[in-house]
Amino acid sequence: MSSTVWILGDQLLHEHPAINAAGNPSEFRVLLIESEAALHRRPYGLPKLALLLSAMRHHAGDLEHRGYQVDYVRSPSFLDGLRRHVAEHDPVRLITMAASSHRGRAFQNRLDDLLGRPVEVLPNTQFLTGRLNPIPNPEPDRRYVMENFYRAMRRHFNVLMDGDQPAGGRWNFDADNRKTLPKVISLPDDAKFEPDEITRGVLAELSSTADDGQRTFDHSASPVSLAGGRWPSYATTRTDALQVFKRFLSERLVNFGPYEDAMTVRSHSLFHSVLSPYLNIGLLEPLELVRAAEEAYRDGRAPINSVEGFIRQILGWREFMYWQYWRQGPSLLAQNAWQATRSLPDFFWTGDTDMACLRHALERALATGYNHHIERLMLLSNFLMLAGVDPAEANEWFLSVYIDAYDWVMAPNVIGMGLNADDGLTATKPYIASANYINKMSDHCAGCRFKHKKRTGDDACPFNYLYWNFLLLHEEKLRGNPRFGPAVLGLNRIDSAEREIVQREAGQFLQEFERFPR
Ligand code: FAD
Repeated sequence: MSSTVWILGDQLLHEHPAINAAGNPSEFRVLLIESEAALHRRPYGLPKLALLLSAMRHHAGDLEHRGYQVDYVRSPSFLDGLRRHVAEHDPVRLITMAASSHRGRAFQNRLDDLLGRPVEVLPNTQFLTGRLNPIPNPEPDRRYVMENFYRAMRRHFNVLMDGDQPAGGRWNFDADNRKTLPKVISLPDDAKFEPDEITRGVLAELSSTADDGQRTFDHSASPVSLAGGRWPSYATTRTDALQVFKRFLSERLVNFGPYEDAMTVRSHSLFHSVLSPYLNIGLLEPLELVRAAEEAYRDGRAPINSVEGFIRQILGWREFMYWQYWRQGPSLLAQNAWQATRSLPDFFWTGDTDMACLRHALERALATGYNHHIERLMLLSNFLMLAGVDPAEANEWFLSVYIDAYDWVMAPNVIGMGLNADDGLTATKPYIASANYINKMSDHCAGCRFKHKKRTGDDACPFNYLYWNFLLLHEEKLRGNPRFGPAVLGLNRIDSAEREIVQREAGQFLQEFERFPR
């Protein structure tokens, strides 16, 4: 009698705890399920589906190569796939690792009943937060800032510590890390991997047509696929993902810190790592990246501000977001602290806008499933927040489009950090800015038909009147926020006639995109 280890598609770990717990490889089977229902849950973009399916199929092959018996099932749903497997192999028990999402865990918790046999759900090892001792446990409505969380993680895992002091003498090097991109600087190419037979098969399936003329994957609902089936040549195996990381260490880490916040038309990712697609499906593990980055600092291959900046993203922000997702629970998805109710503008699905910065970011997101952090935060969600777009609708868009998007990471990033809709539990102030910031940190404004210096008028940048309109609309609430107060005081310099114009122009702009709801 054998057991079954069920590996979820975003848990493609080389060292999987359920495999380690299951004993002798001859006594268990590994099960992977492609669920049609899960793959069709949203109008996912082609890059995301292709990465997930190709990585799962490669992983199954790798496991077989390592001597495991693998049952790879394609099924209408997870439950159907599990039942078929159970009917065929009759395992005595099922072992799996806790899903990263509320929905997944609720399903796992019902599985004993649904399958009529014992199901063991092991702790999730893809995140380090669970190993933090003690795990922060503030009151549900109390703020707990990332910086404190991050320092506790650094101490606990002994990362960038010299005894009990932070390496380099400071915990935070953000002040050194806000440089604009010089006109002349060599920017690294993105790592690209020629699609092999498995990936080519997946791509063919994703764009194939069934006998009845219907697409097997109906991308008609998803303009994301307008990339024309182009595959941005992401890695789909651990070996190739490690290659991406190796190149990051040698070609990008040195400049990662200084240009972390810069945006440019010249490069897709600048000095960012583009590792989130692989981390989030388990091909890479957070601690191995953190340790290797620290080693680069200790060996003198990269400066402290870059290494600390990178480690802060993984040990700090990534883990903090996972912790927020579980701490706030499913109610996070319904948060709407700024009472934003507008629909997502149609151009988020096409990139068809005259605003050069948004056009660039959207075209890239739609074609490749990737934008770096500042594009996501200070262009896209900044715009959505100023425009008063409903957080749940914005969250669905991000979840559909991004290659690295999963429930646990999207909800706290979009609803919490980007749209500040959880009343500041994730981020203590709203990340909003006018065109001034965008011009300072990017080269988008020079090629734009809108003028970044103009607040009102036909050619004024919409970011400007939307920004001031937002301040006027929420003046009282913003004045109460100590981290935002001074910016609101700028309102004192705007007389009542100009306030009226700002509000009128913002109103017209917003009405325009409301006329074309999706
Ligand atoms: P780098 O800049 O090279 O950073 C290194 C790693 O740090 C990333 O790979 C990622 O794993 C981690 N990281 C950094 N910041 C965060 C963060 N805020 N939350 C979680 N991990 C972080 N990240 C996702 O993984 N999936 C998403 O769907 C996602 N959606 C986002 C939506 C919005 C509105 C915002 C503001 C942020 C979002 N992020 C998301 C966080 C962050 O933007 C991406 O992790 C990052 O851009 C991925 O690119 P990179 O690998 O080049 O990152």
